[in-house]
Amino acid sequence: MKAPDALRAVLRDLPRLEPGSVWLAGAGPGDPGLLTLSVLTALSQADAVVHDALVDPRILALARADAGLVFAGKRGGRPSAVQDDITDRLVALARAGARVLRLKGGDPCVFGRGGEEAVALARAGVPFRLLPGVTAGLAGLAAAAIPATLRGINQAIVLATGHDPEGGDLDWAGLARLDQPIVLYMARRSAGAIVREMLAGGVDPGLPAAVIAAATTSRQRVATAPLRDLAAAVAAMPEAEPAIIVIGRIVAAREELTALLPVARERLAWLLPA
Ligand code: SAH
Repeated sequence: MKAPDALRAVLRDLPRLEPGSVWLAGAGPGDPGLLTLSVLTALSQADAVVHDALVDPRILALARADAGLVFAGKRGGRPSAVQDDITDRLVALARAGARVLRLKGGDPCVFGRGGEEAVALARAGVPFRLLPGVTAGLAGLAAAAIPATLRGINQAIVLATGHDPEGGDLDWAGLARLDQPIVLYMARRSAGAIVREMLAGGVDPGLPAAVIAAATTSRQRVATAPLRDLAAAVAAMPEAEPAIIVIGRIVAAREELTALLPVARERLAWLLPA
C-alpha cells in the first residue's frame, strides 16, 4: 500500500533520540492527534519520559512499556517541583546515558520553561533538541471555531500570561486598545483584575471574549461573553481544567462558524461547541 510506505519513509528519516541526550518537546494541548511525528517516535525510543501535569495520559501511554515515567509537574499556585531539581534530574539522566524525553503540554517554549531548561542543558554540556508542539492558545481557538487571524479584523495576535510572579505587570488596557486579540494563559485567577483594568482604561465593555477549558479533549467547554461578563464566565468553568481566555473581535466569528458546524460534525468531533 502506498500511504503506509510513504509514512514509513518519513518516520525512518526522522532524527533519533540518542543515548545521553534530552529532547525538550511539546505534547500539544491534549488531543493525541495533535502530537507531532517526531514526538511520537521519541516516545517509542525514550528510556525516561519526564513530563508535566498537563500531558494527556493517552499520550504518556504511548511511551515504551519499560520506560521510566517521571512526573515533574508545575501548576500555578500548587505545590510544584522546583525548577532546579527538574533540570538537575534531566542532566543526571542524560549523564547516566539515558535517552531522555522532557515532555510538556502544548509547546515547550510557550510559557513552558523550555527556554530555561535548554539553557541549563547547554551549560551542562548535555546534547539537546527543542521540538515544538501545538500551543494551547492556538489549538484552543481552532477547537472553539475562533480563527486566530481574520483579514480585515486583526493583523497581530498577543499571547500573554496572566500569571508571572517574576514578570512585571502588563498594561492590559493599552494592549486591548491596540484592537488585536489577546490570548491569555494561566489567567483563571487574574481574569477579574485584568478585565477591571481594561474597563477602567476605556476598553469597550461589549468587546467579544471567550474562555475555552480543556481544549481539544472530550471535556472541552467553551463559553463566550462580552468583556464585562468575562470574569463570571471564567469562574463558571470547572476549576480543575486548564483554560485559555481570548479577548477580541475574532471571537464574533465563532457564531457564524458554529451555525455551519453540523455539516462538519462527523469529521471534527472536538471542533463542536460544548
Ligand atoms: N506550554 C503550554 C502552556 C503552559 S502554561 C502551551 O504551549 O500550551 C499552562 C496554561 O496553558 C494553562 O493555565 C492554560 O491556560 C493553558 N492550557 C494548557 N492546556 C490547555 C488546554 N488543553 N485547554 C485550555 N488551556 C490549556
